[in-house]
Amino acid sequence: KLIVFEGVEGCGKTTQIQLCSKWLQSLGLSVAVTREPGGTPLGLHLRRLLLEKSLDQPIADRTELLLYAADRSQHVEEELRPNLAAGKIILCDRYTDSTIAYQGYGRGLDMSLIHKLNSIATDGLESDITLWLDLDVEVGLTRKRGTTMALDRIEQEAIAFHRRIQQGYAELATTEPHRIVRIDASASVEIVEKQIQDVLTQRLKL
Ligand code: C5P
Ligand code: MG
Repeated sequence: KLIVFEGVEGCGKTTQIQLCSKWLQSLGLSVAVTREPGGTPLGLHLRRLLLEKSLDQPIADRTELLLYAADRSQHVEEELRPNLAAGKIILCDRYTDSTIAYQGYGRGLDMSLIHKLNSIATDGLESDITLWLDLDVEVGLTRKRGTTMALDRIEQEAIAFHRRIQQGYAELATTEPHRIVRIDASASVEIVEKQIQDVLTQRLKL
């Protein structure tokens, strides 16, 4: 099964993926944790390029879209398909819905182009469940700024950009309720963890 975690900056994906992985392993399941961009050695190079703050030249929107797609295509081939074939449950930090939210709603690129490219990059591999960690954009960015980590190229974008992304996730969750599940990420780490466990228990029949 391919389980994807999505949401705006600072929504807690990374923390929840770690907790979820421990929990699934405690149930005796075989788990693989990965992320986009950067889930493969090639992808790590692409991630550095994509998130670098001071490139000599801005990345054009369509170029950005293609670089994320290149990262994804490598990830699907080298990481996702082999792990699924080995019967693992994959917990993936971001996937196709990030492209719809960031490059579609955020950058305003044509949606049919994005869907086409997603289908090329994934070779048709869709998430079984996407957990959307819904958190207010300002709260998430404040969380990020509270850490010592420097903000990357995307995190430095205007607040309006992040709000469009949030809107994108909200619309995705409404149009695809069977695949995308909203999780209230404003609650404490423990409560969010429990919400995720409840959803997966039900959906994966654990
Ligand atoms: O979730 P994480 O912060 O690791 O993701 C890396 C960055 O890549 C994020 O800041 C996100 O804004 C950006 N991103 C993007 N478009 C995507 C996927 C990720 O702008 N399709
Ligand atoms: Mg980020």
